[in-house]
Amino acid sequence: MTRDIFNQIAPGWYNFRHWSRFRSELEALAHRWQKGRLLNIGCAHGPDFLPFKQGFELYGMDFSIEMLRFARKYSQKFNFSVNLTMADVTCLPYPDETFDWAISVATYHHIEDREGREVALNELRRVLKPGGEAFITVWNRWQPRFWFKPREVAIPWQKKDKTLCRYYYLFSYPELERLVKKAGFEVLKSFPESSYHFPIKLFNDTSFKPDGLKLYPTMVVEGTELEKWYRDGRYQPYDFDTMINLLIDIKSIVPKYVRISRVLRDIPPRFIVGGLKDSVRDVIKQRMKQQAVECKCIRCREYGHRSQNGWEIGKPKMVRMDYEASGGKEIFLSLEDENETLFGLLRMRIQSKPVAGIKGDSALIRELHIYGPEVSLSQRNPAAAQHKGLGKVLLREAERIASDEFQLHQMVILSGIGAKEYYRSEFGYSSQEHYMVKNL
Ligand SMILES: [Zn+2]
Repeated sequence: MTRDIFNQIAPGWYNFRHWSRFRSELEALAHRWQKGRLLNIGCAHGPDFLPFKQGFELYGMDFSIEMLRFARKYSQKFNFSVNLTMADVTCLPYPDETFDWAISVATYHHIEDREGREVALNELRRVLKPGGEAFITVWNRWQPRFWFKPREVAIPWQKKDKTLCRYYYLFSYPELERLVKKAGFEVLKSFPESSYHFPIKLFNDTSFKPDGLKLYPTMVVEGTELEKWYRDGRYQPYDFDTMINLLIDIKSIVPKYVRISRVLRDIPPRFIVGGLKDSVRDVIKQRMKQQAVECKCIRCREYGHRSQNGWEIGKPKMVRMDYEASGGKEIFLSLEDENETLFGLLRMRIQSKPVAGIKGDSALIRELHIYGPEVSLSQRNPAAAQHKGLGKVLLREAERIASDEFQLHQMVILSGIGAKEYYRSEFGYSSQEHYMVKNL
């Protein structure tokens, strides 16, 4: 049945997947391996041979005769010679220790039973010479598009008016590694394909430059719809390490103008059936330290947290960061010491459209925040007074930028009620609509 499907898919596949998805990975291998006899298991129409065109003796096998017919065509088109054989991956028609190297791109996940997958990997090991290496790819169960799918999926292929479904077994990292080790291999490296990205790449997109983020690893909570999915195997949470590593990945790339306010929802652990249960902040902190990566988010750099944690605090100086976001320009001013400890920040937006309800062109201050010792009006704390002065430094600089660099004549501040008096009495702003406004 499956063999027949691949025979039918072959002509379309030749065009659809004309180039290898793993070109950069395979090129790196060709560079490292240099020469020798190489077997391509489940070679289909052969695009993965290309990086090995020079210096290698090429062998390919596939169970679909049509795929092999196109592999012949492909090899002629790209001018390389290859020995092609129709065979099954669970029974390779080669003597023991025949090959120096093997590659198998997207093959093993098509094997429909566990035993078959084990036998296939044993066969791979058998035909490799001692010290030989293999490069294997399978579909990763944890790609976002499979999050809500079972382990075994049927992936459709449209051929004219006919839908052909191919069987896929979705592997998780630990499972693949276990199988490979069981077959007697040593795992040199296991990694996602280089073209595979988590959604966090979005930080490059000007429509996604958030001021703050909350990271909520999914928890399976009693009595929810998700609990049903979890119970019947339609949803499986990340294992602990994968989740921690993902959170570390996010924290390590988060831009300096973002505040990560929390990780993990406050749900009592007794209601949590699956997924992360306890606070992970300490584990993350410890592992990041181990791996020498830092979270540069606002929260992790705030003066208050750092002075409590015994950081040595230096003198603040002005740091400026400009970036495009959601159709305007953001100017992020901060006062930081040499360790990037944050004393205060100001977010100013320059946009072509006028601020709602305010006449004329203006710059908009969306946030002005000073971190420091708690400031109370009755208490005369010299450190607090000094920190209060920092707000003035930031605001003056923002006014200067708006007027000198952007020739704007008006500053508009989005202000809470409590701070309005501060802008009125110390800077001469007056209240207009929901804002405090001043001519520059
Ligand atoms: Zn952080």
